[in-house]
Amino acid sequence: MRAIVFDPHTGTFCEQVRPLPQPAEGEVLLEVEACGMCRTDVHIVDGDLPLTEPRVLGHQIVGRVIESRSDITVGARVGVPWLGGVCGTCRFCRTGRENLCDHAVFTGYTRDGGCATHAVADARFCFELPEDQDPVRLAPLLCAGLIGHRAWRLAGQARTLGIYGFGAAGHILCQVATQQGQRVFAFTRPGDRDGQAFARELGAFWAAGSDEPPPEPLDAAILFAPVGALVPRALEAVDKGGIVVCGGIHMSDIPSFPYRLLWEERQIRSVANLTREDGRSLFALIRHTPVDVHVETWPLRDAPAAIDAIRSGRVAGAAVVIPEK
Ligand SMILES: [Zn+2]
Ligand SMILES: [Zn+2]
Repeated sequence: MRAIVFDPHTGTFCEQVRPLPQPAEGEVLLEVEACGMCRTDVHIVDGDLPLTEPRVLGHQIVGRVIESRSDITVGARVGVPWLGGVCGTCRFCRTGRENLCDHAVFTGYTRDGGCATHAVADARFCFELPEDQDPVRLAPLLCAGLIGHRAWRLAGQARTLGIYGFGAAGHILCQVATQQGQRVFAFTRPGDRDGQAFARELGAFWAAGSDEPPPEPLDAAILFAPVGALVPRALEAVDKGGIVVCGGIHMSDIPSFPYRLLWEERQIRSVANLTREDGRSLFALIRHTPVDVHVETWPLRDAPAAIDAIRSGRVAGAAVVIPEK
């Protein structure tokens, strides 16, 4: 197999040829069809998230099972998300909060991910994916879709929803939310006219730079941009009782702000990881809520360029790498 390996000691990527890994009991070996890249990968490469040993990144894997030591059959198409394993016994696992497991395993972070021709995964954390869809467009659902959906659920019943940062997660969530009758207000980088037009195309009621106030108070806002300064701005944009959900794994520092922005029962909360139930409910939802996933693709060897493009905000939609045949 070939793999693109990130070495945190040198901050560089290299392509390696390795023997095919052997799946352990309960695991599957996949031939990777596509792997979505994510803002989290940028944070790993930039050292915002600590990594101590070389790693194959990528936690939005779509692949075919070519060897199985589980009840998933050979030939099945599965998706592998960020949550790659949990202990099942800690107090979080026992109370339906496996996303917070004390001993969680994370795909492409604490175990090798999908920036490769092949990958091994714990079958219990794989999602069976539809056969009749494009694997390249399915890949971004495995993190951008899943985390977006979890953040959206935690935002509660909003009639008006702000989305700060209109990338992979934002463009999927916008379509889901508008189909559920919510009015979406999209906030992009200031001056990003293309991003604003893209948001309107996907159903946003209003789109502007994140330095502009929305034309009406929002019931909830979700932040996908890793910019702490947006937290007080979003608090200012939400109405009494409104909630601000921070959807990213890392964010720059949040500046101090006057208490009046939080007053009147506004809330700030974060979203961490996902549960398998989040995956099941997302894939059930999109069966009757079609989502047009926009992708830009790179060949596997150019995975570092895909990560650079996410960092600079140049991707319209989601970034996906595809192993060369
Ligand atoms: Zn646990
Ligand atoms: Zn991700």
